[in-house]
Amino acid sequence: MPSINFDIAIIGAGAAGLHLALAMRDEPFFQQKRILILEKTAKDQNDRTFCFWEKEVGKWDKLLRQSWSQGDFFSKEKAIPLSLPPYRYKMLRGIDFYEFAKREITASPQFHWQTEDVQTVENGAPIRIIGQQGSYMADHVFDSRIPEDFFKKNDKYTRILQHFKGWVIRTPDDRFDPSRFTMMDFRLLWPDSTSFTYVLPLNKREALVEFTLFTPELLNNGDYDRMLHRYVSDILKLQDFDIVEQEQGVIPMSDFPFEKYSQGKHIRIGTGGGWVKPSTGYSFKNCERNSRKIVENLKAGRPANKGLIPHKFRFYDALFLDVLNRQNHLGPKLFETMYAKYPVQQIFAYLDEQTSLAEDLGIMVGFPWPPFLRSLVNHVTR
Ligand SMILES: Cc1cc2nc3c(=O)[nH]c(=O)nc-3n(C[C@H](O)[C@H](O)[C@H](O)COP(=O)(O)OP(=O)(O)OC[C@H]3O[C@@H](n4cnc5c(N)ncnc54)[C@H](O)[C@@H]3O)c2cc1C
Repeated sequence: MPSINFDIAIIGAGAAGLHLALAMRDEPFFQQKRILILEKTAKDQNDRTFCFWEKEVGKWDKLLRQSWSQGDFFSKEKAIPLSLPPYRYKMLRGIDFYEFAKREITASPQFHWQTEDVQTVENGAPIRIIGQQGSYMADHVFDSRIPEDFFKKNDKYTRILQHFKGWVIRTPDDRFDPSRFTMMDFRLLWPDSTSFTYVLPLNKREALVEFTLFTPELLNNGDYDRMLHRYVSDILKLQDFDIVEQEQGVIPMSDFPFEKYSQGKHIRIGTGGGWVKPSTGYSFKNCERNSRKIVENLKAGRPANKGLIPHKFRFYDALFLDVLNRQNHLGPKLFETMYAKYPVQQIFAYLDEQTSLAEDLGIMVGFPWPPFLRSLVNHVTR
């Protein structure tokens, strides 16, 4: 490849990199820019399912696998129906998003897509990116690699893992109601933990059933399968079914300050930029929102990462993670409290970080205080 100084380089064409590239593609300001995408894989695997909520019509609707406006929350004591309008809960297969985005991006002349495994980034003007195949220069670099310090764990930050395994199961007769999904079901728990199952019916005979934990340690692989089997047979009461697809994953839930690893025009994005909501593990919509903000910042001549991290909500997230880290068994009760006391629309607005301080306090007063006070003290003194 000739030695070109790119205006912008995006390292990693995952959720964050692709959202960012699409946001730039949609904006005339970037039409004359030279934008390099460096991705080490072919992005041809369906390696994850993206679920998110949004109000009715959305940008990805034409790619959705399924969506629901009615759902349920279950704890051992309560069954809480959730009526979502004006929101819908939406499900998008990773591969459909990757293929769509790659097609759109490579059809736009300002983009250059390069298969490359990036090794290091040397800050300067321009910034130099060194990969296995060659080196590249760019004025702005958006980097979705996770900073190495995150994995060293020798700091004061909380690290919980959201880890899960899911099966798409198929039954020989109609056993699912595709108009309702299960948001969280705490009736089957891994002992003393924050663990739950969710069920996303695709049609009357197929559903994605996923067993999920928010804990500091992973399980053995066979344990996820055993829990899924128990859920399908004991809760869903299904004996006759085929597993037609599987998915497994780990998402870091942490108050680690990823954003501090951005330097000048070398900006961390995605999981590596702190775009995963620490208390939920959701990040698809954050990738979309933050990409739009980056585009607006660049157009306005502001630092690209200005205003990306909502510090107030990160503080709440840090307290919640600290409670889970110390008293993981409290999770089911905390989620039950939330879904029992507040309308789902209020919960979604809070989790979307769209609420005012007064509205936040309105939600917080409903929670049991002692574990959060202890975490507050721990947070301030650590
Ligand atoms: C199985 C799974 C299910 C999930 N489900 C949901 C969900 O339902 N809803 C939700 O909101 N979030 C979900 N998430 C969380 C989150 O949305 C994803 O992790 C999201 O993909 C994060 O975006 P990212 O771009 O930071 O990382 P990724 O999407 O993982 O993309 C990173 C990209 O960078 C590339 N890369 C890495 N290192 C290099 C390198 N050195 N050189 C070049 N390229 C490199 C990778 O190949 C990859 O393509 C899920 C995560 C997983 C793992």
